[in-house]
Amino acid sequence: MTAVRKFWPILTGIHRYEKTLSTRGRGVGEIIEAPILAYLIETSQGRILYDVGCDYAKIVDPVQRAHWYESDEFPFGPPQMTEEQRLPNRLEKLGLRPQDVDLVFCGHLHFDHGGGLSEMAHAEIHVHQRELDAAREPADGAYFASDFAGDYNWCPQCAEYALAPGVEAIETPGHTAGHMSMLIELPTGAPILLAGDAADLTENLVDEVPPGLCWRDREDLARASIRKLKRLAEEMGAELWPNHDMAFFLARNRFPDFFD
Ligand SMILES: [Zn+2]
Repeated sequence: MTAVRKFWPILTGIHRYEKTLSTRGRGVGEIIEAPILAYLIETSQGRILYDVGCDYAKIVDPVQRAHWYESDEFPFGPPQMTEEQRLPNRLEKLGLRPQDVDLVFCGHLHFDHGGGLSEMAHAEIHVHQRELDAAREPADGAYFASDFAGDYNWCPQCAEYALAPGVEAIETPGHTAGHMSMLIELPTGAPILLAGDAADLTENLVDEVPPGLCWRDREDLARASIRKLKRLAEEMGAELWPNHDMAFFLARNRFPDFFD
């Protein structure tokens, strides 16, 4: 039986960029607006947060902003993020404090997924060991070293596992070395399978298009993960959610209300 009680997708910012970053080899010159999301899962055993969005300071502080986002590596500049979209303020809308989150699960550690860790420093931080290693390398320019340099309570994982009954970590490498997706079994209704950045857009899933950025250019790994997610969704009767698809998100956004 699932321990899940409530589930919220939470908008933490918006990034405008060329579509090729989401769909490898497709969308040159086409600018899209992508939601940057975190997901809160309330269970009978505590609260879990999947991803923590961007580091607000790197976006609003001019010096940090110039250092992290205004380089050749970032031709599209920083995401837009308002004070209201910071996770502590989002949680406050739900009557919660950051301390009410027990466990943070980072699907991967790119700047728009692990950037907000400093606001959640009290929690256990779960991430795949291969992801932590790749981030520290760093394996690509979307890892911002200071996001994960703090003295956090890391709980590195080496395999698929259940975070709680009804909340399962699914290995989906390809976009990054140790990327993980998450299967959430709600108390009622179909389970939700969060692809994370294994699939940014519905198009990635339908056409089995790898993300623009693939770890060591391993398109094969990324495509295998997309197929794995589709297979699992089919087996479980789950709804498979892409992670940076604005239309898909807006059709499901009910914050501060929730799924149950
Ligand atoms: Zn990413």
